[in-house]
Amino acid sequence: MAKLTTRTEDYSKWYNELVVKANLAENSGVRGCMVIKPYGYAIWEKLQAELDKKFKETGHQNAYFPLFVPKSLFEAEEKNAEGFAKECAVVTHYRLKNDPDNKGKLIVDPDAKLEEELIVRPTSEAIIWSTYKNWIQSYRDLPILINQWANVVRWEMRTRLFLRTTEFLWQEGHTAHETKEEAVAEAKQMQEVYTEVVENFMAIPVVKGYKTPSERFAGADDTYTIEALMQDGKALQAGTSHFLGQNFAKAFDVKFVNKEGKQEYVWATSWGVSTRLMGALIMTHSDDLGLVLPPKIAPIQVVVVPIYKTAEQLEEIRQVVGKFSSELKAKGITIKFDDDEKYKPGWKFAEYELKGIPVRIAIGPKDLEKGQVEIARRDTLEKQFVALDEVSDKVETLLEEIQTNLYQRAFDYRKDHTTEITTYDEFKDVLENKGGFISALWDGTEETEEAIKNETKGTIRCIPMAFEIPTEGVDFYSGKPAKFRVLYAKAY
Ligand code: AMP
Repeated sequence: MAKLTTRTEDYSKWYNELVVKANLAENSGVRGCMVIKPYGYAIWEKLQAELDKKFKETGHQNAYFPLFVPKSLFEAEEKNAEGFAKECAVVTHYRLKNDPDNKGKLIVDPDAKLEEELIVRPTSEAIIWSTYKNWIQSYRDLPILINQWANVVRWEMRTRLFLRTTEFLWQEGHTAHETKEEAVAEAKQMQEVYTEVVENFMAIPVVKGYKTPSERFAGADDTYTIEALMQDGKALQAGTSHFLGQNFAKAFDVKFVNKEGKQEYVWATSWGVSTRLMGALIMTHSDDLGLVLPPKIAPIQVVVVPIYKTAEQLEEIRQVVGKFSSELKAKGITIKFDDDEKYKPGWKFAEYELKGIPVRIAIGPKDLEKGQVEIARRDTLEKQFVALDEVSDKVETLLEEIQTNLYQRAFDYRKDHTTEITTYDEFKDVLENKGGFISALWDGTEETEEAIKNETKGTIRCIPMAFEIPTEGVDFYSGKPAKFRVLYAKAY
């Protein structure tokens, strides 16, 4: 198996090779659209299950809305429509016919033009709020707490596997509330849910913050974000939760009679995370040998590779492994015994390193004699011998240790790569040479934000919630009094 390009050689090449070689996904014949392969999909399914559980624990239900949005509905909320217009795929016809001039070829049938064009959803607020209009009459109909698992299409110009694709998988929550306070609380709660899953399950530390007005979701009054830092010093928006105010209610005329008998517009939120999180997972933990998976999200947590020459030896190993294997399964740990004869143990070791399996157990005739196995952990590549009757306890604690270690490693990286600056020279120096988050004072104006973005490609990732304190000092760029402390970075 050819080695991966290393991260220091070319980070972006390393990433692309890793995604393909670890069998996570590959490019398809459709521009910007990927094929998610079974191993990649198994990881996505584990993440989905964890998120879905948390959504339900916080009172949400799943539903499904159409893929197509009639253009008139799409236009209704003007800011949202304007924001997404440039990225929309549009259906104009509903039929093909044989090309009379070119046998065996098909052409769009001009007689099958749709009266109204259909937009392939880039996000579903329009279709959902046009539906909620029929569901909401009184305060008794509220809140509505719905999530949908779906695909969306945004016609992205520069695409990369998982990080930015034209079609991507995601979940989108869409909720309707009686009061502003309740909607704001909901949007913040979902940012919290994302934080919990991304930090505890995926072992990726995130910064919780607000987006600046220019980076907000089109049609939102406020966007709450979680921002992660990748190993190459670039930031990645890992998830967003929007307080939509009454914008969609007004656009779709969704009113309710409140407890005092008065008509009011409904308050809204929406929130989403996508297959981009797979990219975050890969770029936070993996190394030059391949993927490194936190145990909680790994579809296979432990793999056992038998080393043997004869059928008797294999049988003996199988018996021994069977015992600790059932103990591990009883603890809820997923374990695979790889007795595939087509491949040699050395090949399997490299393969499971590439696939990021957290713990590998090897057992051969010598180990049988000594009553032990060799256990290797994927995160640090350390190996140790463990007595057979201690395997199941040892593996259980090791998996917990790996989960904690991966989080801590990423947390330390972020700490080392968060730099506070006070001058523009320092800003440019850190952005170019060190990377990571740059903590700095901002005057709160779009002009400053835009000028810095144009001059350096550094953007305000967020106004961290932790910095929501009165700020003294001046903006490092404009010299004007500062309004907020923000985090800048180059971002994916
Ligand atoms: P939004 O609806 O724009 O707030 O996006 C919701 C989530 O989808 C965010 O976490 C984005 O980072 C992610 N996302 C946006 N565009 C893409 C894309 N082209 N490919 C993958 N994920 C995306």
